[in-house]
Parts: sequence; structure tokens; C-alpha cells
Amino acid sequence: MKAPLQHCLEQCYNELVHDLSGNVADYIPELSKCDPDRFGISLATLDGHVYDIGDCYIPFTIQSISKAFVFALALENLGLDQVEKVISVEPSGEAFNSIRLTADNRPFNPMVNAGAIACTGLIVSKEGKGAFNKIHETLSLFAGRSLGIDEAVYKSEMLTGDRNRAIAWLLRNYSRLPEGVDDVLDAYFKQCSILVTAHDLAIMAATLANNGINPVTGEQIISPHVVARTLSVMTSSGMYDYAGQWLYKVGIPAKSGVGGGIIASLPASLGLGTYSPRLDTYGNSVRGIRVCEKISSYFNLHVLDRKEDLQTCILADYDIKGISSRRSRRPKEIKILQEHHDEVRIVELVGSLSFSTMDYISRKLTLSPDNTKYIILDIKRVPSITIAAQKILESLRQEIESKCIKLIFSGIKIGSAIYRQIDLEYENKLFQDKYLLLDDAIEWVENDILERNYGNINKEEIIPLSEQLLLSGFSAEEIKNLAEICELKHYNSGDQIIFSGDAALSFYFLQAGQVSVKFSNGVKLSSLSAGMSFGEMALLENVRSADVWADTDITCLELTLNAYNNFRKFYPETGEKIMRNGAYLLSQRLRMANTKVHILSSAR
Ligand code: GLN
Repeated sequence: MKAPLQHCLEQCYNELVHDLSGNVADYIPELSKCDPDRFGISLATLDGHVYDIGDCYIPFTIQSISKAFVFALALENLGLDQVEKVISVEPSGEAFNSIRLTADNRPFNPMVNAGAIACTGLIVSKEGKGAFNKIHETLSLFAGRSLGIDEAVYKSEMLTGDRNRAIAWLLRNYSRLPEGVDDVLDAYFKQCSILVTAHDLAIMAATLANNGINPVTGEQIISPHVVARTLSVMTSSGMYDYAGQWLYKVGIPAKSGVGGGIIASLPASLGLGTYSPRLDTYGNSVRGIRVCEKISSYFNLHVLDRKEDLQTCILADYDIKGISSRRSRRPKEIKILQEHHDEVRIVELVGSLSFSTMDYISRKLTLSPDNTKYIILDIKRVPSITIAAQKILESLRQEIESKCIKLIFSGIKIGSAIYRQIDLEYENKLFQDKYLLLDDAIEWVENDILERNYGNINKEEIIPLSEQLLLSGFSAEEIKNLAEICELKHYNSGDQIIFSGDAALSFYFLQAGQVSVKFSNGVKLSSLSAGMSFGEMALLENVRSADVWADTDITCLELTLNAYNNFRKFYPETGEKIMRNGAYLLSQRLRMANTKVHILSSAR
């Protein structure tokens, strides 16, 4: 099957391939030798996939498209202040090779020749003779491969580039260029002669769209704040004196070159590279512009035509009525927890948190009922959080804590980018490096509620067989005789008690401590406390289906199936009682699971 975007690019290509209007640039004589009919479109996605159609692997000189990347390099290497001192960022409204400067004698912007030459001058002042190598290396990193150079075009422009020479000397006159104007011009002509393909350009554009990370190599080439500034001047001046119309119609940061290439870079979406050497009177590729126009209008990609759906960022919002963590509790504990169910508010978020989604969430949370004591924010499905959202969240956190409500984050990996952005060191201490699953957070809150409302839970307490849930309804005599055929066992915290796959020949009554039932891959199914049984599936199945681990030092009574079957001969009714109790416990667990599924599936 073919991906939809491939179809779309092919259709676009077929519609435009017969448009032969415009002329190949000939003011650099060597450029006029290219095949004017070449046409290629490449589109790179943020996960590094590149769609190609047409002449996407035909090399041509990058020309002015290099200006965007060399500007980014200057900002990165010299800092904003240094660069802004030498070059303005105003659209010039003039042709790319205009010699006019601003009132304070700076080039209008880095996207026209004067600004680009000044930019290359900055790299020369920093790198000296190594300037071109630095530029070449940077552009190659953007493309993800070592780019070639067209020596013939370089020499041709060197021989005929008097206008650029004039611009350079004028800049030198105003001290906007370092000494060695010829070296600057040499590096500039060479940078314009770097060979790229439409495929390369798409990746270079996608690197800008991807916050400076090359989506193919995964390497961070340039800092995000530099990317934003580079895209800004591309937006206001990337298409020379066509820039205003471009922003109005296409609305995607772009840069063109007289070699016939165009890049368009839509932040957080895509990078487009086109090649078609016939140019319009502004010096922009005719078919390249048409491609961008078509794709932008078809997909409605204009940067200023955005919207966000706020309501969907809250996946579910509930308290703990009828639900609990996977820790099974004794009946009296369950009763206490259900009495306090509305003290706990659990809000599960989904999607990237931005200024507007975080504001929406924060207003929902400030409307928490008066008796709220805990808010759990589950951010398992949140892939990123903007700076604005971080700031709103931070102030929300202070507000919530000032009302003595505990705010707990769950669904987060320790050390992940979001973990650092939200600054969770405090929670980390609270949960001793491990309670980062939603279930663990709920369990932590339950424990806290139990401790506050039932301070005398004795964790060391030995629960007698008569209080075992599985044995409720047993007579005193039955209990006494059952106790005699059980074997007392102790395990240390961390011991594995049951191994999945083993023959199921016995079951256990937990008298003190806690155990966890886990799949063999480590995923926890449930946790059990004293008073509960485990391994009782042996009554139904021959083989153990899960592992059981001691979470603390534990004491339990093991009852083998043989002994139990023997016992049943004397007390035939106990078989039915155990089955009934077991079914009741299972149905309770099922009801809980169903409540949880209902909450999530009925969520907006
Ligand atoms: N090397 C070309 C020049 O300076 C670049 C111009 C362009 O691509 N617009 O004339």
C-alpha cells in the first residue's frame, strides 16, 4: 500500500510538471547550464521519514538557502547580541542582491545577500581560515550527510560576482565586515556552491521544524531558541520581496535559492524541499512556490491558522468511589477508604500540555470540592509540556499546596525530560524512587488515609485463621482442625514464594506481612495483606499462572491440596464454603476492574 502523503505529492507533481514558465538564473553563467526541466519534491516528517517524487536525488547548488543555516550557525556560535549588532532583521522589500542598507548602515536582514555576507563575515571573524569548513560541516549535519561542492559554479560566481564584492566592500566601509574581505567573499561564494538535493533540503528543513534535532540522525544540530529566530527571519524575509505575499498565502517559514531550490519548514510538522530551476522575477523557483502553495492550502498548514481542542486533554476525572489500587484490603480498611472516597481526586491527562490546555486543566483543578485532600495527576499519556504550561503548573502546585491538598504526579518515568521539567525531586523523595505508577500513587494515598483515620493498624499483627476471608463461615471446630494440617512458613522480604509454571499443589493463608502477585514479566496484578489467601487458584488449576513475591517479611500457613482433600472428607460442607468465599472475593475484584474500565471508557 502507498502512504496518503506519497499520493498527495505525486498528484501535486503531476499537476505542476508541465508548467515550464520562468527562466533559469544566468547571472552566474555556470547556473544557466543546468537542465531547466528538472523537478523534484521531497517531504521529511518529524520521525525522519522522507517522501520523494521526481528528481529528488539530482544535486544542485544550495545558493541562498545556505543563508538560513549560516545565520543559525552565527547565532549559535557568536550569540544573539553579536549578530544583532551587525545585521538587522527587518524585511527589506527589495531584491535579494540589493545594496541598500538600513539607516544605521546594517544589512536589512540575513536572508538577502548583504546580510548573508555579513553573517559569513561573523563566522570568518570567529573561525578565521576555518570558516568555510565550519559552514560546510554545519550544513552537512543539517542534511545528515557530507555534502559536496560544485567547483565550477563556485569559480563562475567568483569570476562574475562583482555586485556581491561591491556589497562586501560597502559593509567593510561601515566596519560590518572583518578585515580580509576577500576571504569572506570566498567563503560566501563557496557556501552558495554547496551541492544539495531536494531530499537533503527536506531533511534540513525538517531539522528546523523539529526544534533543531535532525529527525533522521537524531542529532541536536542547533539550539531551539536559535531555531525560533531563524524561522522568524525566514518567515519575514525568506522569499525576498515576495515575502509579504508568501506569508499571506502560504504561511510557512521558507527560503529559496537561485539554484532552483526552496525549503519550507513548518514547526512541529514537516520539512519540505523542492527543486525546479526555472525562476520567477523575484528569483524564486516557479514550481517550488506552486508546490508550497498547494500543500499549504490543501492541508490548511498556514502557521497562523491554528486551533486547539481543550476539553480532550482531560481523559478522566474521578474519585475513588468503588475503585482502589491493586492492593487488596481487609473489609474494615475498605470501609474506611470508601467513607473517605471523595477526598481523593484523580485526573488523567492526555496529549501535550500547552499554555491553553494547562490553563484549562488548572481552572478545573482549582474547582476541587472543599474536602479534597489529595489530587493525583496522571501524566502517563502526556508526551511533552511547553514552558508556558510548566509555569502555570508550578503556580497551580503552590496554590494547591497552600490549601493543604497533596498533589501527586503519577505515570512518569524517573529522570525523563518531563520529570525534570516538572521538577519532581520532591515527589521522588515522597515515593522513595518507585511509586510512579498511577496504581502506586492511589495505593500511597490509601495508606495515608488509613494511617490518618485508623492510626492503630498493626502491621505486625498476626491475623488468625478465623479471620481469613476465604474461611468465613467456618465453624470454630473446622478452623481448629484445619489449622492442624497447615504448615507454618516464614519468608523474607524479596523472596519468591510461588513460581508461575510450577505444579499448583498447595495454597497459602497470609497471617502477617504483604505479598505481590506478578506476571513473570514483573507486571503487578495485585498486592495482598495479612488475612488474605494466595495460590488458591490451585483449587481450580493444576499449574501456577503467576508469581508471588514477599514484599515484607511474612508469616503464612501453607495447606497442601492433598491435606485439604482429606480434610473435606470429614467436613464435606467446607468445600462449598471455600468456593463460595473465593467466588465472592473474585467478584469484588471484577467489580472494581469494571468500575475502572467504565470510568475510562465513558471519559470524553
Ligand atoms: N550566490 C548567489 C548570489 O549571491 C545567491 C543568491 C540567491 O540564491 N538568491 O548572488
